[in-house]
Amino acid sequence: METAQTVAAWIADNWSTELTLAEWWQRLADAGYAFPTWPAGLGGMNASTAQARQISSAITAAGVIGAPIGNGPSMGGPTVLAHGTPEQQQRFVGPLARGREAWAQLFSEPGAGSDLASLATSAVRDGDEFVINGQKVWNSFADMSDWGMLIARTDPDVPKHKGITYMMIDMNQPGVEVRPLVQMNGYPEFCEVFFTDARVPVANVIGGIGEGWSVAKTTLAFERAGAGGSRASGAINIGAGSKAGNLHQPVGELLAKAKQEANDPTMRTEVLLSSRTLIKMARQLGCTTDPVLRDRLMRYYANSQVYSWTGQRGRDNAKSGRPGPEVSTLKLQIAQLAHESRDLSMAMLGAEATLMGDATFEGGRIQRAALASPVPSLGGGTNEIQRNIIGEQTLGLPREPSNDNVIPFRELRRS
Ligand SMILES: Cc1cc2nc3c(=O)[nH]c(=O)nc-3n(C[C@H](O)[C@H](O)[C@H](O)COP(=O)(O)OP(=O)(O)OC[C@H]3O[C@@H](n4cnc5c(N)ncnc54)[C@H](O)[C@@H]3O)c2cc1C
Repeated sequence: METAQTVAAWIADNWSTELTLAEWWQRLADAGYAFPTWPAGLGGMNASTAQARQISSAITAAGVIGAPIGNGPSMGGPTVLAHGTPEQQQRFVGPLARGREAWAQLFSEPGAGSDLASLATSAVRDGDEFVINGQKVWNSFADMSDWGMLIARTDPDVPKHKGITYMMIDMNQPGVEVRPLVQMNGYPEFCEVFFTDARVPVANVIGGIGEGWSVAKTTLAFERAGAGGSRASGAINIGAGSKAGNLHQPVGELLAKAKQEANDPTMRTEVLLSSRTLIKMARQLGCTTDPVLRDRLMRYYANSQVYSWTGQRGRDNAKSGRPGPEVSTLKLQIAQLAHESRDLSMAMLGAEATLMGDATFEGGRIQRAALASPVPSLGGGTNEIQRNIIGEQTLGLPREPSNDNVIPFRELRRS
């Protein structure tokens, strides 16, 4: 059984500022501390969630660089572990756990977001390969990714959910064109991805041809769970994969740069501000005597506490083997908090809220957070879709009437 002390002792023996990031992540994965709940040899040690939380808190407390983050570790790795063959797990999860490769989620399309199963990107079999044509959009960090978790249509003659296949696509090939999209907060986090006769070996299909919908649902479940927030706060994260340019840098230098960025308000990208930050801001701006703002601040504080306690209750229920419905409400709650944080901080800033740039209050941090506040109510499924899921899967309400589970995809009317 790993304790905070054994992890701290291991870090004392293994961390050195001279190591490259690739060497440090290799050590972390080999020790099973990168993703403790994953299998041994693949970055983990088959640990329980509670034990994993202890290990990641000990790494954060030591102030060293944490395991790789991103869509690969948070949702792709767990999906391949659930549905992939042992060979696929070795090929894809091994390098992912060591930060050698980064993955993008290639699900959404211009005509298939909430109704994801209407996707039209085609995968046509050609011997031992699939030939991919079509377009994806909203793909976070696709320009920094080595592999894509792609869902594509392999059979248009069956109902839409049945003709989808999940596969790992090599992003470094001529038929894959990635174009970054600049969001309203100025960051090019998303991309659109175009496929023109791109190739995927049949051996890269995860979970079987035509079985992609149920595999995709696993990825989405991990995405929604992550959107509710689970990582130790204060962890130091560095971009993974061959394209981020960090793997061969000494960890000492990367750590110093990351700490400097964390203390620089102009480098922060947040979707909401904590109640502590908002209260501090109210004091700095002299808003604490305004009874309406005081009331709104109090409400925000109370809602933040409810969010944190709901998460705690969900974790405790899961630990005791009685998973409750709390987890499915967390994503909605954080989306609501982000909107409240935006409205409250903008009200406190007043006219300055309309300005942007380093010269404004806190280096523009508040405005940037406001511009990123729609993220939790859209990413990983919109609030409306999340409510549909809660209604149908948690409350057992009847599904919306639809006949698209019997009509072949080819015959569906699509926008
Ligand atoms: C931060 C962020 C990161 C993302 N990262 C990725 C990524 O890495 N990879 C990826 O593939 N995608 C990604 N997405 C895309 C995301 O999954 C989609 O934006 C989302 O599923 C909504 O799809 P859409 O934008 O096409 O909206 P639409 O589906 O067109 O929806 C438009 C509006 O109609 C509403 N609506 C639609 N259907 C219903 C219904 N049945 N009932 C009630 N209301 C409905 C929606 O709630 C929404 O308000 C990301 C999005 C965000 C914001």
